[in-house]
Order: sequence, then C-alpha cells, then structure tokens
Amino acid sequence: MIFDILTLFPDMFRSPLAGSILEKAREAKLITVNLFNIRDYAEGKHRVTDDDPYGGGTGMIMKPEPIIRGIKAIQSGHPEARVILMTPQGTPLRQEVVRRLAQLSHIILVCGRYEGVDERVRAVVDEEISIGDYVLTGGEPAALVMIDAIARLIPGVLGNEGASEDDSFSRGLLEYPQYTRPRSFEGREVPEILLSGDHQSIERWRKREALRRTWERRPDLLTRAGLSDEDQKILDELRGSSGAE
Ligand code: SAH
Repeated sequence: MIFDILTLFPDMFRSPLAGSILEKAREAKLITVNLFNIRDYAEGKHRVTDDDPYGGGTGMIMKPEPIIRGIKAIQSGHPEARVILMTPQGTPLRQEVVRRLAQLSHIILVCGRYEGVDERVRAVVDEEISIGDYVLTGGEPAALVMIDAIARLIPGVLGNEGASEDDSFSRGLLEYPQYTRPRSFEGREVPEILLSGDHQSIERWRKREALRRTWERRPDLLTRAGLSDEDQKILDELRGSSGAE
C-alpha cells in the first residue's frame, strides 16, 4: 500500500511514522509513505501557495495550481492512485470506510492548511474524508490518522492475523472489556468466566458485554450493526434487566 502525501509540512510526518508498528510496517514494505511538499509545485521566486479569499474574509486560501500540479505529477504513471482530500466537509471516517480504503493499493492524501483549499481543487479529487466534526489547523494529523487506521488492517502489519477482527466497530459494535494480569487489582477482580477456559461461554459473555457496552455508550451504532436474532434477544434481555423501556 502506497501513501503519497501532499503537504506544506512534511516534517510533521517524520516522528509519527518512526518507531512502533508503522515503522515496522514500512521496513517490511507493507506500507510505503512518500512525502511531497506542495511548495515544490508552486511557481515564481517566492513559491507562493496561498492567497486572500475572493469576496473578502479572514485567513488565507491555498491556491489551486500547486496542489493540482502536485497531484498530476504523482498520478502520472499511477492512474490507479486514489486522490483523497482531507477536509472537515468530507465523508466521516468510520471503520467501514477504513476497511474499504484498505483494499486500495495507492492513495494520494492532500492536506489543506489555513482556511482550506480553493474550491477548484475538488475537481481533481476522487474522495473527501473528514476524521471528525471538529476543525484542525491542517490536514496532516488527519492524514496520519488515516494511515494509521488503514495500516493496521493490512495483513502482516499487526503481526497477529485476525487481531483487528474483534476491535471496536469491526463488527459494528464496541469491543467487550479486556483484562490482563494481575487477576486481582486493588480489590477489582477479573470476571470469573474469563478464567474458566470454557471458550464457548467466554464467547457468549464477550458478545453480551459488547452489546451492553454499545447500547450504553453508543446506541446510535446498534441501528447499523446488522444484529442477528440472537444479538437482538440479548439486547432485549439487557434492556429488560435495566428496567428501561
Ligand atoms: N475553513 C475550512 C477548514 C480549514 S481547516 C472549512 O471550514 O471547511 C484547514 C485544513 O485542515 C483543511 O483544509 C483540512 O485539510 C484540514 N482539516 C481540518 N479539520 C479537518 C477534519 N476534521 N478532517 C480532515 N481534515 C481536516
């Protein structure tokens, strides 16, 4: 999987991509991250990349030519590369979106700055993604979030195949509670069932706790989770025992 990043601040990527899992993934060539400075595609002595907004208003707007020139330069020879603009106005990044993007082989991530990019950049973009309903100073942290979330779905990156299968959102639910040693910590015990060695019972418990947790914290996810009849039965029980509805 190749990530090509168009940014005014390539240095912002170096430390987050060094160390830990992403560095190992890069060393193993499971992912490649190439950094391109938008300034290198700007013309003139001063290589200006931003300008005042037409119509007035505060802040600067990123000029279309350097970004589009950068995209075209990376795309030449790589027509399959998908161009994604990071913007708070884009499709919200959810695990299902991450899963879809993880199937691609080449993504070009365009990071905006200031008050964002000239509207005409959108014409050369395949897709727009937002990492959440808040506004960042730049697309760089958003691009890093995308790389991180996508990379951990690429086979081999987590080392342990299937390690991401039970994660929150992967089945439309939040993950069940997890414990490790010690068995007793400050008077709080690990649930007995997890020590039982009875895998079927453990599976059932985990399913129930994932449903409980999702219902308590993110009921909005349940409507989209594609619940089985059995899941629905467990949910009805949980609702009944809590005295709600
Ligand atoms: N004025 C713009 C926001 C500009 S923020 C607007 O209201 O839409 C500056 C840059 O940060 C954007 O161009 C975008 O690349 C990035 N950015 C900010 N918030 C983001 C978010 N939630 N998701 C993805 N990118 C974001």
